[in-house]
Amino acid sequence: MERTTCLVAGGGPAGIVLGLLLARAGVEVTVLEKHGDFLRDFRGDTVHPTTIDLLDELGLGEQFAKLPQRKVTSVQLPLRGGMFTFANLDHLPGPHKYVAMVPQWDLLDLLVRAADAEPTFRVLMNTEATDLVRESGRVVGVRYRTKDGETGEIRAELTVACDGRASTLRAAAGLSSHSWATPFDVWWFRIPRNDTDPAGILGAVAARRVAIMFDRGDYWQSATLIGKGTDAELRQQPVGVIMASLAEIVPWLADRADAVRDWGDVKLLDVKLDRLDRWYVDGLLCIGDAAHAMSPVGGVGINLAVQDAVAAARILAPALLAARVTTADLARVQRRRIVPTMVIQGMQRVLHARFVAPAVAGELDVASVEDPPLGLRVFRRLPLIRDLPPYLVARGVLPEHAPEFARRR
Ligand SMILES: Cc1cc2nc3c(=O)[nH]c(=O)nc-3n(C[C@H](O)[C@H](O)[C@H](O)COP(=O)(O)OP(=O)(O)OC[C@H]3O[C@@H](n4cnc5c(N)ncnc54)[C@H](O)[C@@H]3O)c2cc1C
Repeated sequence: MERTTCLVAGGGPAGIVLGLLLARAGVEVTVLEKHGDFLRDFRGDTVHPTTIDLLDELGLGEQFAKLPQRKVTSVQLPLRGGMFTFANLDHLPGPHKYVAMVPQWDLLDLLVRAADAEPTFRVLMNTEATDLVRESGRVVGVRYRTKDGETGEIRAELTVACDGRASTLRAAAGLSSHSWATPFDVWWFRIPRNDTDPAGILGAVAARRVAIMFDRGDYWQSATLIGKGTDAELRQQPVGVIMASLAEIVPWLADRADAVRDWGDVKLLDVKLDRLDRWYVDGLLCIGDAAHAMSPVGGVGINLAVQDAVAAARILAPALLAARVTTADLARVQRRRIVPTMVIQGMQRVLHARFVAPAVAGELDVASVEDPPLGLRVFRRLPLIRDLPPYLVARGVLPEHAPEFARRR
């Protein structure tokens, strides 16, 4: 049986950032990641200004700037009469007025390299947390299984579940949650991008079709929204319908009719929106998607997970160093992060009801109109209203900053 001070289950954005920060505080931390690498496509790759600020504070800003990335400064809607700029990020406060589109694996590799420089950090790849270990009602660690089938236990003063929206540990703890119905699922696929294409993030909305396209340099990472639970039925069609349907609302894609040739290239995201009522039990804390699965609307999941990790590290490092973490400490983390989570999830629910549900039901058609509808024109003319959604998405509420112990020049 092994021991560590803080056992982190899951090497996604929440787990790796938490591991890095705690290790910089001198806390012995072990991260378990069930996969052998971070190379998984379509995990989301929007890095928002708050996260870029944080990387600067951690002394990683220069390395981050060298990663292959596209800087997105606007969100545009294609109309029949031309492109309409829906949101502009250049009004944002702070040094980074853009969303960086960076492959998530590059970001995670960078963070792990920084964490590896700390003597108290270790990450065990190909190692899956399978269950909680309890003693006298308190969580005292996890059981794990490696890819080779080896099993064991690691004991810890605190276990943090960062194992994502299908969290094994959250289920094992029996924590209750509240979930909200979502009107859509998402298909993700790639489309080659030409230099003459527009840049940035594009959102195309027409009868029953909604597509969001993220400029990734030589390709578009494209998301098509489909009605909730309709994936299996829609996959009965020939795969060519995907590009044919997209080209009807984004006409300059007509030359890429064979961009998607196999249904295997189309990944389904079963959209979920939920939140634990309580994020902890004695000895265990859940953060990131494990505490609150986010809808992809706004591309905020990574950044919220990172912010949870920063708050958790700042609040818990002293208690971990003293090896005396109480449920009151864990409650402080939830109290700090519940408001930002509720605000963003609330915004997502409003957008689901007002925008996504009617669009998926075919009641909203923006792409085939010549000029922007009146509502959109008024929205653009009212700076306070116009700049609020990009601000909430890009900077959020109660942004977290690196604690002093984690800062490097
Ligand atoms: C298809 C898709 C597209 C998305 N697009 C965006 C986007 O553009 N922008 C954005 O901000 N968000 C996006 N999201 C959401 C975003 O990926 C998540 O909100 C964010 O990654 C949450 O971070 P996390 O660290 O909490 O969990 P995750 O990123 O899910 O990380 C969990 C990690 O734990 C590992 N793991 C799982 N179970 C175990 C276990 N039992 N033991 C050990 N390891 C385990 C997993 O392999 C994974 O590495 C998207 C999500 C999906 C699925």
